[in-house]
Amino acid sequence: MQKQIIKILALFLLISSCQNSKKNKPDISQNQVKDAVVKQVAKIFSYPKDRYIVTQDTVAPNDTFGKILSRFDLPYSDIYKITQKIKDTFDVKRIKVGRPYVVLQQKDSVDSLARPKVFIYEQDPLHYTVIDFHDSIQVHFKNKKFSTKRKSVEVVINKSLYQDIADKNLSPKLAMELSNIYAWTVDFFHLNKGDAFKVIYDDIYINDTVYAGVGNIYASVFKYGGKDFYAFRYALDSTRQHFDYFDEQGHTLRKQFLKAPLKFGRISSRYNPRRFIKYYGRVKPHFGTDFAAPIGTPIMATANGIVVKKGYTSGNGNYIKIKHNATYSTQYLHMSKFAKGIHVGSVVKQGEVIGYVGMTGHASGPHVCYRFWKNGKQVDALKEKMPPAKPIDKKLLPAYLEFIKPYKQKLDSI
Ligand SMILES: [Zn+2]
Repeated sequence: MQKQIIKILALFLLISSCQNSKKNKPDISQNQVKDAVVKQVAKIFSYPKDRYIVTQDTVAPNDTFGKILSRFDLPYSDIYKITQKIKDTFDVKRIKVGRPYVVLQQKDSVDSLARPKVFIYEQDPLHYTVIDFHDSIQVHFKNKKFSTKRKSVEVVINKSLYQDIADKNLSPKLAMELSNIYAWTVDFFHLNKGDAFKVIYDDIYINDTVYAGVGNIYASVFKYGGKDFYAFRYALDSTRQHFDYFDEQGHTLRKQFLKAPLKFGRISSRYNPRRFIKYYGRVKPHFGTDFAAPIGTPIMATANGIVVKKGYTSGNGNYIKIKHNATYSTQYLHMSKFAKGIHVGSVVKQGEVIGYVGMTGHASGPHVCYRFWKNGKQVDALKEKMPPAKPIDKKLLPAYLEFIKPYKQKLDSI
């Protein structure tokens, strides 16, 4: 009886000390309690330690699943049976040099040979695969209990994104995550000295000590080409499962293209790779969409991007080409003049004026020929299916703006 009370007391102390260290994260303290309980009965990956000979090692060069297990005296016929049985769920060829593994040999096996019964492979710091062949052969995919630490950092681009991140002892995964969030906004291959980002995110730790990478990114602002691009993580669905990133006004960062580069005007000629021109008496493909409008009408960038070409050719007249992301670029021809401050390398926002309608080059009247490039090929802008990019509904916007307020304040104060 007294033993029991002491146990309960000990558990209680554990719980309360956890809660003190992580006040606002009940899920994590629960994990820690679980961890603590697990430690008390001495288990390794939920197997009781006292029943096994435990070997922990890492996959050596030229190691295979078979080679490892044969070192523990598992007959090749058994190894073959296991690999065949699990091949649809876990291909043993997937094990990688340097990754940790654990082999558990049962101490009390019938033939007293301490045969291996469990192989545990840690594919990354958070996830592991348990191959259990006590009786039947089973595979389980599991993840470790982890805790998170909220972090706020600023990185100014000085040498290169990866170098500057490394210099601050931050994970390169942070750059990868940001490049996903800002895929439609920032060209990570053309960052310049002085570009900078601030970010609020979680670092993931196993057992509170082993660093296991970058978790959620909650908010960030990227200063890119002198402009600030905010991103806030927010779920619109009622189950709060599907998160997306929105800017400070509630627009999604996965930009949809504007339907047209002009606020007004009319389509005077559509994309037509088989266009027949009577005058020439032959097919002369038209790889753009023409929008007719009076000379001087402002031409807008149809999505965020970076100006990659600005110049004049006898056909295009004055033209600009903008790269939006790895997939899409757009081109705007026959301008009467360029907008001030727009150069090769300029970062432009969706809707920003880049030039003015004209009829320079081969043009029979004032119009902008709008060309749409996908993976290096010209396609019909009007037929291109774009990723959905609806802004937050007006009804839901106040709640969103309220939600991001503390994040934005925090970002601005870093
Ligand atoms: Zn055209």
